Amino acid sequence: MTKRMRVFATCDIGESISLLRDRGYDVEVYPGPEAPPKSLIVEKSRSGIDGLITTLRDAVDAELFDAGKGSLKVVAQYAVGFDNINRADANRYHIPFTNTADVLTEATAEFAFFMMGALARKLWSAEHLTRENKWGFWHPYLPFLGDEVTGKTVAIIGTGRIGLAMIKKCAGFDMNILCYDPVYQNHEHITAIQETNDLRHARGICREKTWIKYVTLEVALTGADFVSVHVPLLREGESSTPTYHLFNEETFRRMKPTAFLVNTSRGPVVDESALAKALREKWIAGAALDVYEREPLPADSPLRDPAIEDRCRLLPHFASAAKITRLSTDPDKGMAGRCVQGLIDVLEGNYGGDITKMPYVVNKEAFAK
Ligand code: NAD
Repeated sequence: MTKRMRVFATCDIGESISLLRDRGYDVEVYPGPEAPPKSLIVEKSRSGIDGLITTLRDAVDAELFDAGKGSLKVVAQYAVGFDNINRADANRYHIPFTNTADVLTEATAEFAFFMMGALARKLWSAEHLTRENKWGFWHPYLPFLGDEVTGKTVAIIGTGRIGLAMIKKCAGFDMNILCYDPVYQNHEHITAIQETNDLRHARGICREKTWIKYVTLEVALTGADFVSVHVPLLREGESSTPTYHLFNEETFRRMKPTAFLVNTSRGPVVDESALAKALREKWIAGAALDVYEREPLPADSPLRDPAIEDRCRLLPHFASAAKITRLSTDPDKGMAGRCVQGLIDVLEGNYGGDITKMPYVVNKEAFAK
């Protein structure tokens, strides 16, 4: 590097920052664990930084791109989801932004699977019983029973990277699988899962024959014992099949009263007041959420209603929160490594400086010749 590159990171992402510094970068990291105010990020952009490392907590839009005009060359997002970044604005200002897809796929999918199990088998209520010394006797069905996951039917909403990884885990639990994705259907993957299921049955590894198929949303919702959501947040105007409030009063009413919802995607995909109502009035049996319309979850959220606490699990946007997944400096293993590599690719002109060839750049369309 001839010029010393200046980078502002809105959050500490661990050892990868030191690696950037060792490489000769001048990196400033926002010291707080909380997100910096937007005005500070705008001010940093105006100060002539070359690169910006962001998280899903930072609103990245025209105001920020405009402040960085002439100097800001890349925004490296520490997440796979990028609904906090205004893609149209990035394209208008011709700024590439990167994400950290793939390295958090298995971590997020396994967390969704564990949430499903914890919810169905009532682990939270069961532990409370023990801790509060209310476990008076062993009994065949008192004080409550849970539902098995094994052999049940799961609907996977969104069959991208995480949806497909979730399918793999559900297939291992002999589940039947209903897939819904109006944009991308991976029939090859689904056929391979079916072949594996058939082999497991033929070799006596599982007793019942199991199946997997693509269906409509209606069939997925009405037929599933569990519904697991793996879509990006897409608002009206951003897609012909937006996902904002995809789960609402109407969709909850279509689910079985014994069914459970698991959401590890983005909070606004679920209308939380509708969900609280669906849980209170028992339209569905339960829900486990990792993400919320507002994060952190406000104190007055209807989801905190004690009347539904036995069937509503609330996790703190934690699905990718595994050590290697979050912090490994290896771009093939960790979000930190991949985030920094995306930044380096742009700032150091890797791939012959052709942004359309850089694997972690999201908005390649803005750079196509
Ligand atoms: P992906 O882009 O590989 O997959 C998303 C899939 O959703 C795509 O196949 C797309 O066609 C599909 N889709 C789009 N609109 C749809 C609709 N209306 N109905 C059904 N499907 C639709 O993304 P991914 O890597 O699998 O990640 C999915 C999302 O999960 C991310 O965008 C992010 O918001 C979220 N996520 C959350 C956490 C967490 O910590 N809770 C971690 C990782 C990812």
